[in-house]
Amino acid sequence: MDGSLTSELVARLRAIAGEEHVLTHPHDLRTYQSDGLLHYHVLPPVAVLPATGDEVRAAVAICHELRVPWVARGSGSGLSGGALPIDNGVLIVLSRLRRILEIDLENARVVVEPGVTNLAVSRAVAPDFFYPPDPSSQQVCSIGGNVAENSGGAHCFKYGFTTNYVTGLEVVLPDGEVVELGGKAVEAPGYDLLGAFVGSEGTLGVATKITLRVVPAPEAVKTLVAFFDSTHAAGEAVSEIVQGGVVPGAIEMMDRLAIDASEHVAHAGWPAEAGAALLIELDGSRAECHARLDEVVSQCMGAGATGTRIAADAKEREAFWTMRKAAFPAMGRISPHYFVQDGVIPRTRLGPVLARIEELSREYDLRVANVFHAGDGNLHPLVCYDGHSEGEAERAEELSGLILQACLDEGGSITGEHGVGVDKKPFMSKMFGEEDLAAFQKLRCAFDPLGSSADRAGPRRAARGRRAGDARRRRHEAGLGGTRTKGSDPFVHGRARPAGRAQRGRPDGGDPGGRRAGRGAGAVRDGGAAAGARPPGRLGAGDSRRRRGDR
Ligand SMILES: Cc1cc2nc3c(=O)[nH]c(=O)nc-3n(C[C@H](O)[C@H](O)[C@H](O)COP(=O)(O)OP(=O)(O)OC[C@H]3O[C@@H](n4cnc5c(N)ncnc54)[C@H](O)[C@@H]3O)c2cc1C
Repeated sequence: MDGSLTSELVARLRAIAGEEHVLTHPHDLRTYQSDGLLHYHVLPPVAVLPATGDEVRAAVAICHELRVPWVARGSGSGLSGGALPIDNGVLIVLSRLRRILEIDLENARVVVEPGVTNLAVSRAVAPDFFYPPDPSSQQVCSIGGNVAENSGGAHCFKYGFTTNYVTGLEVVLPDGEVVELGGKAVEAPGYDLLGAFVGSEGTLGVATKITLRVVPAPEAVKTLVAFFDSTHAAGEAVSEIVQGGVVPGAIEMMDRLAIDASEHVAHAGWPAEAGAALLIELDGSRAECHARLDEVVSQCMGAGATGTRIAADAKEREAFWTMRKAAFPAMGRISPHYFVQDGVIPRTRLGPVLARIEELSREYDLRVANVFHAGDGNLHPLVCYDGHSEGEAERAEELSGLILQACLDEGGSITGEHGVGVDKKPFMSKMFGEEDLAAFQKLRCAFDPLGSSADRAGPRRAARGRRAGDARRRRHEAGLGGTRTKGSDPFVHGRARPAGRAQRGRPDGGDPGGRRAGRGAGAVRDGGAAAGARPPGRLGAGDSRRRRGDR
C-alpha cells in the first residue's frame, strides 16, 4: 500500500471509529499479528476496531472504494490462521462488538453482536436454557469466529454444530452492502445462503449481528469416565455404545499422554496406569439418564474397561471436564512445543488410524498425544517436539502432514472444526478436484462480484508463502518461542497491548487462565504457496460435517 493511500485510509477509518481505535504503530499491531496458529505472523499496516455494525459497514465500504483488502478477526483463538492479517490491507477486529442485543426465551432465540464470547451466550440464558456448541476455547472465542469456522465442541455429537444453531445473520458484504440472511424462524424459503455463510471462514463478508437458537437445559446430567488399557479398547467401547442406540451428550477420548498432561492442571486423580480414558456425558430426563448410565457402564466393562468413575457432584464433573478441555494447553507441561492437528475420519476407522499414528510416532521418534471427539471421529493428535533440537520441528511437521494423509486415506477430511485457513490450504487439492475448487470460487464471487476478495487472495497468499519452518526459526532466534506452552498472555479484547507484551507472539489467542493453544500443522511444509494457480478461497473443508440439519 503506498503512503498516500495509507494516509487517506487511516484518516477515513479514524473518522469512523475514532483516533484510538485505528492502530498503525507496530507495537500496537503486534497484538494482532497471529491467531492461535503461531507459526504465521504478519504485521498489518492498519487495524481498525469498530464499535458497531454500522462502523463495520462504513469501514468495509471505504476498503471497497479504495480497493484495499481486509481480513476480519474475532478473538484470534483460531487454530488454522484464518484471522492472519495481510501485509497490504486492513484487519477489522470485532472484539468491541460485544453486546447481547436480545434474549427471547419464548422463542428460544438470542441475538448477539459477533464479538460476544461463546460462553457468554450460555451464561445469558442459564439456568433454563443453554447454547450447545461448546469449543474448548469457549471462554474466549467469539460467536462471529464460531460462525465463520462452523465451530464444534464436545457436545456436538448429540447436538450438532454451530450451523445447526444459527437462524439469522446480518452480514456486511465485501462492497459494504448490508444483507439479512434468515431471521428468527427455523427455515427461510430460497437458497440456503445462511448455510453457505456459516463455515465460510471470513471469505464472504463480515457477520455483524447473529441470531442463535438456544435449547432447554436437560433435567439431569450424568458424567462418567471409563478407563482402558489402550485407545483401541476404548474405541471398541465407543462403537458398542453408539451401535447400541445410546446417544451420549458427549463422548471424548484421551490417551495416556494426554491424561498425564492434563493431570498437571486438573488433578482429577485418574489412574496412572490407564492407557486411555473415555469421558462420557449423558443428559436428558432423570429417569432416562439413570437407565442409560447403567447401560453405558456395562457396555464399557464389556469392551474391556479396567474401571469406571461416575462424577459424584458438580465439582467432580468440572474436574473431569477440565481434564478434557485443558488438554491442548496442558501439553505444554510435558513438551516444549507441539502441533495440534485436526482431521476427521469415519468413526469405524478409528482403530486403523490410531494404529497408523502410533507407527508414525515410532518411526519419527516423536511422542503423539491423542485427545478427541470420539463420537464424531474428529481427531486432534498433538505432535510433541523440541524446537531447540536440530531437525525435530521439521520431523514433527512432516509427521503431522502424514497424519492428515492417513485421515484422507481412510475416507476422512482435512479438518473437523478448526477450519482450512492458512494451515490446510495445500491440502485442499488433495481432498477436492479442480472443478470442486472452481465451484467454491464461483460461490465466493457471488457474494463478492467485483472480485475484491480475489484481490485479497493474491497478497495474502504471498504473505503466507513463507515456510513455516523459517517463521519458526525466526521466532526461536528472536526468543519468541514458537508454539506457546508455559506461561500466558492474557487475552486482549478490543484494546492494544503494551508493546513489550505484544511481542510475545499470539496475544489474544489463548485463555486468560494460562491456557495456551498449540499450533496447527498441515500447511507448514510449504506454507500455503503450493495451493495451486488460483486459490480456492478458504471455504471450509469437512463440509460433509457441515450439513445444516434441523435447526
Ligand atoms: C485451547 C483452544 C481450544 C479450542 N477448541 C476448539 C474446539 O473444541 N472446537 C472448535 O471448533 N474450535 C476450537 N478451537 C479453535 C477456535 O477457538 C475456534 O475456531 C473459534 O471459533 C475461533 O473464534 P475466534 O473468535 O477466536 O475467531 P478468530 O480466530 O478471530 O477468526 C477465525 C475466523 O473467523 C473469521 N471471523 C471472525 N469473526 C468474523 C465475523 N464476525 N464475520 C466473518 N468472519 C469472521 C476470521 O476472518 C477467521 O477466518 C480452539 C482453540 C483453542 C486456542
